[in-house]
Amino acid sequence: MDKKSPDSARTGRLFIVSAPSGAGKTTLCNAVLKKFPDLCYSISHTTRAPRPGEHDGVDYFFISEDEFKERIRQDIWAEWAEVYGHYYGTSERFLNRHLSAGKDILLDIDYNGTRQILTKYPDSITIFIMPPSLASLKQRLLNRGTDSEETIARRLENAKTEMAQKDHYRHIVVNDSLPRAIDTLSAILSAHHAG
Ligand code: 5GP
Repeated sequence: MDKKSPDSARTGRLFIVSAPSGAGKTTLCNAVLKKFPDLCYSISHTTRAPRPGEHDGVDYFFISEDEFKERIRQDIWAEWAEVYGHYYGTSERFLNRHLSAGKDILLDIDYNGTRQILTKYPDSITIFIMPPSLASLKQRLLNRGTDSEETIARRLENAKTEMAQKDHYRHIVVNDSLPRAIDTLSAILSAHHAG
C-alpha cells in the first residue's frame, strides 16, 4: 500500500470536533454521520453517569473511575482528560484499528484531548464549533434540562475557556443556523474525507 503522503495513503484520517457544551455539537455530528455513512464515530469512555436517553456503547462506554484509572496505568488511551470532575478518554486501539482499515474517524473531544491527539496524529483535521453567543449557549443548556444550575454555571465558565482556544483549530464553524452549519461541516469533511 502506498503510504508516501496523507493523500495517497489508504490509512484513514481523524476529524476532531470540539465545542463548548450546548453549542449543538452532538446534533451536528449526528447529522454528518448520517450523510457520510462510512465515517466512523469514536465512542469515548467516560466515568460520568449516562443522561436520560444515552446508551452504553452508543453515546459513550460508561465505566467506573477505578476502571478508567487502571486503563491510564495500562496506557491504553490515545488521549484522556478530566472534564467537569469526570474522566473522558479515547481508546488508542480503536483508533488504530479503524485507521489502518482505511476508515476516517470523527472524534468529539475537548481542547485538552485535541492537543494530545495532534501530537500522535498530526494530520488530524481540527474543527471548532462556535455557538452564536454565550446567551444562546446558556439557553440551550437550560433547555436540555439535564444539568443542575451549578453544573450549568460550571459549563458556561468552561465554555469561555474552551472558546478561547478556537484559533488553534484549522476550521471554525459557527452554529447560528443548523442547516447552514451542517452544510459547512459537510463541506470540510468532503474536502478531506477518503470515502
Ligand atoms: P458531555 O459530558 O457533555 O458529553 O461532554 C463533556 C465534554 O467532554 C465535551 O466537551 C466533550 O467534547 C468532551 N469529551 C467527550 N469525550 C471525550 C474524550 O474521549 N476525550 C476528551 N478529551 N474529551 C471528551
